[in-house]
Amino acid sequence: MSKEIPYKIYLEETEMPKQWYNVRADMKNKPAPLLNPATHQPMTIDELSTVFCRELAEQELNTTDPYIDIPQEILDFYKMYRPSPLVRAYCLEKALGTPAKIYYKFEGNNTSGSHKLNSAIAQAYYAKKQGLKGVTTETGAGQWGTALSMACAYLGLDCKVYMVKVSYEQKPFRREVMRTYGADVTPSPSNTTNIGRQILEKFPGTTGSLGCAISEAVEVAVGTEGYRYVLGSVLSQVLLHQSVIGLEAMAACDKYDIKPDMIIGCAGGGSNLGGLISPFMGRKLRGEADYEFIAVEPASCPSLTRGKYAYDFCDTGRVCPLAKMYTLGSGFIPSANHAGGLRYHGMSSVVSQLYDDGLITARSVEQTSVFKAAEQFARVEGILPAPESSHAIKVAIDEALKCKETGEEKTILFGLTGTGYFDMVAYQKYNDGEMSDYIPTDEEIAKSLAQLPVVE
Ligand SMILES: *Cc1c(COP(=O)(O)O)cnc(C)c1O
Repeated sequence: MSKEIPYKIYLEETEMPKQWYNVRADMKNKPAPLLNPATHQPMTIDELSTVFCRELAEQELNTTDPYIDIPQEILDFYKMYRPSPLVRAYCLEKALGTPAKIYYKFEGNNTSGSHKLNSAIAQAYYAKKQGLKGVTTETGAGQWGTALSMACAYLGLDCKVYMVKVSYEQKPFRREVMRTYGADVTPSPSNTTNIGRQILEKFPGTTGSLGCAISEAVEVAVGTEGYRYVLGSVLSQVLLHQSVIGLEAMAACDKYDIKPDMIIGCAGGGSNLGGLISPFMGRKLRGEADYEFIAVEPASCPSLTRGKYAYDFCDTGRVCPLAKMYTLGSGFIPSANHAGGLRYHGMSSVVSQLYDDGLITARSVEQTSVFKAAEQFARVEGILPAPESSHAIKVAIDEALKCKETGEEKTILFGLTGTGYFDMVAYQKYNDGEMSDYIPTDEEIAKSLAQLPVVE
């Protein structure tokens, strides 16, 4: 007999993970190394340390240690908002009339409103430990910038955020949250950096992109004494920190004998998906269990489903290391869809390799269907989901409805990465019937991919 399953499963404090899990250690085919953009040789620890903190650079290059201790200071911070609940979506199951069991791991229960805080505190901690004065970063929709501002305020670090101009203007409240936590927020592209000035000259009136904001933040970090750059997704170190999501989820599942058949996550740069699935993937890689993993991306920015697996630039200014990943090309500017956190042109090299090895599948979904799923979820489960998270909801609902047809009692687990209170303009468009679906043409994607760097 399995135990009665509560509506919300919270681990005890003593059951919370004390180490992050590094899935690369169990991968037969390791993700390809980051390359120096000038020499095309693998980045060394010393080269990476000019941009990132030393310990984070070490984590970035660590493909062999399966477990890495979480420092006590970070564990203490995690306790402020973790464990996050694993929720049985009883009400959604009932509304759908499905025999499937649906669970979601809810990461929106902190002021930044998303899972990003899990890595923000880790990155800020290592910067502080190294004796740095501050960090720089980019933010698109604003969740990452908010999370990092919170972490920096807690540790007493300066935080300079380059915020994609369109978000800076459309989401003034996000900006004010960051400023409340003491961050210095600049709309990107700006005239405070060389790359910003170049981009403004070339594309006057541009509303910016993540790739461009990254270039500005890196330029400032490298050029300012006592500063380093930090990034909220894509990097392997970020996936490592986000493994806390999957480790908690797995511990909660094991505690109640829950065996997910299918694990679903939205994929922007791949950090929440990678973090959620990592420990389960570890079991699969070691032959201990089997799961179906599904990455969900927007049809407007389909890096896994329509991109190419190749070395590419991580930023528009082409100053960052080259990463081998599924990419649409660093010059790809997705249409103005409302899931700001899913608008990156590339994908984590770990997720890319797992996908290329056939261990993960991917689907792209259109914006209006995503908001329809968000509305349906909000009405029965109460939580108002972030547009990004709603991509996972959409596919979880699709799969639950398939079970209704076939009568299969599958167990579905998905990541609910955050809340959508700062996305009400998007919800308003949806409610007013003014939302559209934009899907790039093959020609547009081919044109962007033609600009990929040539790496021998
Ligand atoms: C940033 C963000 C995402 C996407 O980023 P990943 O690195 O792919 O996880 C998803 N959901 C929310 C709420 C976000 O803020």
